[in-house]
Amino acid sequence: VEREEKKTGIDLSAYKGVWVFAEQRLGKLMFTSLELLGEGRKLADKLGVELSAVLLGYEVDGICEELIHFGADRVIYANHRLLQNYTTDGYTKVIADLINEKRPEAMIVGATNIGRDLAPRIAARLNTGLTADCTKLDIDEEQRILLQTRPAFGGNIMATIVTPKHRPQMATVRPGVMKKLEMDKSRKGIVESVKVKLNEDDIRVNVEEVVKSAKQIVNLIEAQYIVSGGRGLGNPEGFKLIKELADALGGVVGSSRAAVDAGWISHDHQVGQTGKTVRPKVYIACGISGAIQHLAGMQSSDCIIAINKNPDAPIFSVADYGIVGDLYKVVPMLIEEVKKL
Ligand code: FAD
Repeated sequence: VEREEKKTGIDLSAYKGVWVFAEQRLGKLMFTSLELLGEGRKLADKLGVELSAVLLGYEVDGICEELIHFGADRVIYANHRLLQNYTTDGYTKVIADLINEKRPEAMIVGATNIGRDLAPRIAARLNTGLTADCTKLDIDEEQRILLQTRPAFGGNIMATIVTPKHRPQMATVRPGVMKKLEMDKSRKGIVESVKVKLNEDDIRVNVEEVVKSAKQIVNLIEAQYIVSGGRGLGNPEGFKLIKELADALGGVVGSSRAAVDAGWISHDHQVGQTGKTVRPKVYIACGISGAIQHLAGMQSSDCIIAINKNPDAPIFSVADYGIVGDLYKVVPMLIEEVKKL
């Protein structure tokens, strides 16, 4: 690190603290931000530094306490009319200015639609690195650098990427992978309101209105019970059976990419590398072979139950309970039993 410092001329020791981007929409904190706080807490403790949540918005003061209860030592709160709705220009400018002033050593952002737009802009403006879509973060305690791990080469290897030359070290983190802390209302922290230097000319896009999608979004990420169907269903009607079991459990329907590609179900149900990463209490995979790209999205589930007629299907290698059999015989039996509970 010292050698790199000489090369780039950056005084790495001037950068301290871990920042988490606290993403809110319409005044409501995104679940992913809580997951990032849980992860950020772990990283900050390893480094022995403060964990700050960076909150941008307009009159969203109520969120500040929530961020502290979920692990932040400090909330850096930028409250401004022009920050009410997300804009790439406005948010990038404010956060880049704050980073230049306060110099955190690491900043993590959720790999949501907003996060994936915002984080690279900030990184480019600050001439620093960014690892996109991480599924694991850690600290090399000796060198005090952030180890950023993400799937590479179609999910066949996990690559650990470091940014030793530049600060802050930046990563976006896949939603649903990190664990949030339990809310603790006795946790104390500081809310630091910062002055925002922003005017209308800084923002090239004018957001007139934010309209919530009328379509019901499948909430796979927060679901406790997920029943997923794959190509083994054989036809789109098979998902009726999957839904029946999911409903009986009070859960939601997931799917493999093969079922999505076949047009049997919409992409928002897809679990895996190019779908959602989930961590439910129970994940039931029906007629899914267990390709590495599917496993990447569900293998951290607390309990995995696999139903497959092929005893050699790779899904059984990650399953806690495996049922070798025809899903059209097994699933109705499960539904009957669950309904008795
Ligand atoms: P198959 O592999 O065809 O498996 C069907 C299974 O059903 C078989 O194991 C079979 O034994 C079983 N079966 C058949 N009939 C029955 C029955 N009656 N009862 C019980 N079992 C039965 N995939 C994802 O899922 N999510 C992703 O996000 C994803 N991203 C990808 C990204 C990239 C870059 C690439 C290259 C691939 C990606 N894939 C993803 C695709 C992945 O490689 C697999 O092709 C896909 O997961 C296979 O889906 P499947 O298990 O439903 O189908």
